[in-house]
Amino acid sequence: MNYKIAVLPGDGIGPEVIEQTLLVLEKVGQKFGHSFQCQKLLAGGCAIDATGSPLPEETLEACKKSDAVLLGAVGGPKWDNLPGDKRPEAGLLGLRGGLGLFANLRPALLNKELRDACPLRPDIIGESLDIMVVRELTGGIYFGARGKRDGKMGQEAYDTETYSVGEVERIARLAFEIARQRSKKVTSVDKANVLESSRLWREVVTRVARDYPDITLEHMYVDNAAMQLVRNPKQFDVIVTTNMFGDILSDEASMITGSIGMLPSASLGEGAFGLYEPIHGSAPDIAGQDKANPLATILSAAMMLRYTMKLEEEARAIEAAVNQVLEEGYRTGDIMSPGKKLVGTSEMGRLVVERI
Ligand code: ATP
Ligand code: MG
Repeated sequence: MNYKIAVLPGDGIGPEVIEQTLLVLEKVGQKFGHSFQCQKLLAGGCAIDATGSPLPEETLEACKKSDAVLLGAVGGPKWDNLPGDKRPEAGLLGLRGGLGLFANLRPALLNKELRDACPLRPDIIGESLDIMVVRELTGGIYFGARGKRDGKMGQEAYDTETYSVGEVERIARLAFEIARQRSKKVTSVDKANVLESSRLWREVVTRVARDYPDITLEHMYVDNAAMQLVRNPKQFDVIVTTNMFGDILSDEASMITGSIGMLPSASLGEGAFGLYEPIHGSAPDIAGQDKANPLATILSAAMMLRYTMKLEEEARAIEAAVNQVLEEGYRTGDIMSPGKKLVGTSEMGRLVVERI
């Protein structure tokens, strides 16, 4: 098959980790007989320098015409003093909005080779950890009415959380579909003991669950979920939650794996289209030094093959190659430990390509 991928290398280590990922995709294409047409486009700081805008019209249009978007990372100190809506990060928000991406998928996957990096006790993590956080991305308190007004105790500021049945339904459905391909458990996280929007959330998720009798559904209050993630993370398979709770819990879940350079993410909308990127930023402190870990971006490409192209075997081939390289003891600086072999960005990429 033929696939069109819009590639946004971005800033800092973005272009370095993307370069290795494109080599991996090329190898997968050769091995399985696919053609991945990758079109590189400007977004972020590099786009500001070249065009004045963090998200040029041409980039957004090309992304819309593609099957998927693969992004490195955007931003850096050079652009930090620009006003909020002119910054590289604003380009990313515009991209998510412009592409109608309503779900953010963040796997918190602790590779058993990297158990040392996990801040939790070995008896808590066991063999490994594998949690998928599904966060609603376009609704809730981050998009509700906000403002300032006079109040009895001086000026007040307010934000409001609104969720509609349709918004909850589509994210719940996605979470159940994902759970079907995993360990068949969904934990829906809310604050239904306090918030009206959470009560609607819980009601709708419960209703959607009837279409998925093979999946176990559990409801949990967000404060308890935050605690359970460090107390007993093995109880979780798929966590589905609101925009704000998901923002917080996905950071917590990914950090219990201790490896920022290892974790991919996906943002999905209706249909198969998606945007795939590592969770880490542009890491200006190590940019241009061949030190960045490319595995988070390489694993993001594996998610792209799985969720957009439905190429499960190809996705697994990448993940297996990554596991093999780690098992053989190769490490970039961020995941280095005594007795292992230190390699740079391009060597790590080459090793993965070779093992596919
Ligand atoms: P952002 O605001 O874009 O998230 P940030 O400064 O908060 O950026 P990162 O850019 O992710 O966060 O960097 C945080 C730290 O993690 C830095 O010290 C960086 O060098 C390190 N880091 C991030 N990504 C990687 C990677 N792929 N490989 C190695 N180290 C990384
Ligand atoms: Mg950050």
